[in-house]
Amino acid sequence: MHEATIANNIIQIAMRIAQKNNAKRVHRISIIVGELRLIDFDALKFAFKVLSEDVPILEKAKLEIKSKPAKFKCLKCGEEWGFSSKAEIGKENIDKIHFTPDLIVNYLKCPKCGFNDFEIINGKELYIEEIEVAT
Ligand SMILES: [Zn+2]
Repeated sequence: MHEATIANNIIQIAMRIAQKNNAKRVHRISIIVGELRLIDFDALKFAFKVLSEDVPILEKAKLEIKSKPAKFKCLKCGEEWGFSSKAEIGKENIDKIHFTPDLIVNYLKCPKCGFNDFEIINGKELYIEEIEVAT
C-alpha cells in the first residue's frame, strides 16, 4: 500500500504547516501528482480519509488531487511525446515505475527515431500545491 505511505506523508506535512501558522483547522489540501507516479487516486483518497480521521486538526479536510501529464523529450532528435497508456510499459513493470518513476526510461523509446535515451520533462511530480487553513 504505497498510497497509504503517501497519504501519511501528506498528513504529516499538513499538520506541520497548520501548527506553524497557528491554524485550528485544515480545510483543503491540494496536491500535484505526476502521471508517472501511477498512483491510484481512489486508494490515496481513501487512505487519506482513514488516516486523517484520527487527527482533529484534519477533521473534514478535503484532499484535492491534480494530475500532471507525463512528457518526454528525445535526446537524439528532440521529439516530445506523452505517456499514452500503461500497456506501453507492460503490466509487470507498473509496480516498479510506481515506486521509482525514473525507471520508465528502461521501457520506452522515442516514437519518432526509436532512440532509447530521453529526458523526463514532466510526470514525476508529487508535492503539495496548496493548503487552506482556518485560524
Ligand atoms: Zn528521437
